[in-house]
Amino acid sequence: MAKQQFKAESKRLLEMMINSIYTQREIFLRELISNASDAIDKIYYRALTDDKLVFNKDDYFIKITVDKDSRTLTITDTGIGMTKEELENNLGVIAKSGSLAFKNDNEAKDGYNIIGQFGVGFYSAFMVADDVTVISRALSSDEAYKWESTGADGYTIEPCEKDSVGTEIILKIKQNTEDDTYEEYLEEYRLKSIIKKYSDFIRYPIKMDVTEH
Ligand code: ADP
Ligand code: MG
Repeated sequence: MAKQQFKAESKRLLEMMINSIYTQREIFLRELISNASDAIDKIYYRALTDDKLVFNKDDYFIKITVDKDSRTLTITDTGIGMTKEELENNLGVIAKSGSLAFKNDNEAKDGYNIIGQFGVGFYSAFMVADDVTVISRALSSDEAYKWESTGADGYTIEPCEKDSVGTEIILKIKQNTEDDTYEEYLEEYRLKSIIKKYSDFIRYPIKMDVTEH
């Protein structure tokens, strides 16, 4: 399909994310893990009222996969997934719920870490990645779709293969520049410490799989 344009508001937020300052970047992982956890919650709540759906605790988890060779960091969840329309509507525009609303929790309010105080959502992925791919299959659908974007210039959606329900977010981590390093987001110890700092309360297991070459 032809490249679709982001809505103006989304485009501005994206640009802010792409140009974010160093100290704010690490929160992208909190945002993606929280989305993964929300997606599993949705299956959990569905199962409470749908007799045909059984929530087997062991089947629900979040997985962080690092491939240093391809410079990819992948966040996989076994949550409710997204249809083609949901990919379009949820990732093409700023979600109304939560995003850019102040979080009143225990984060440092030092006035400096502005982005860190917001629930900035999915687009925060662009703070560390120059290419973001979302592969998703919605519950009770056997079709899967791939959403891909390299930033403010738009996104594409096309059909793809996926065996199981859920979502995979693949971040192609930016190359280091003279002033900035991104390599750290491919380091197991660094990722673990970010998870501990921001995602300690997540109810589902967060597994980690790092491939060294
Ligand atoms: P918020 O979480 O505040 O709604 P986000 O920008 O983080 O805003 O996410 C936008 C929307 O995209 C979510 O509301 C959800 O509908 C959808 N979404 C994002 N990540 C996932 C995921 N891993 N699984 C299912 N849906 C997702
Ligand atoms: Mg979110």
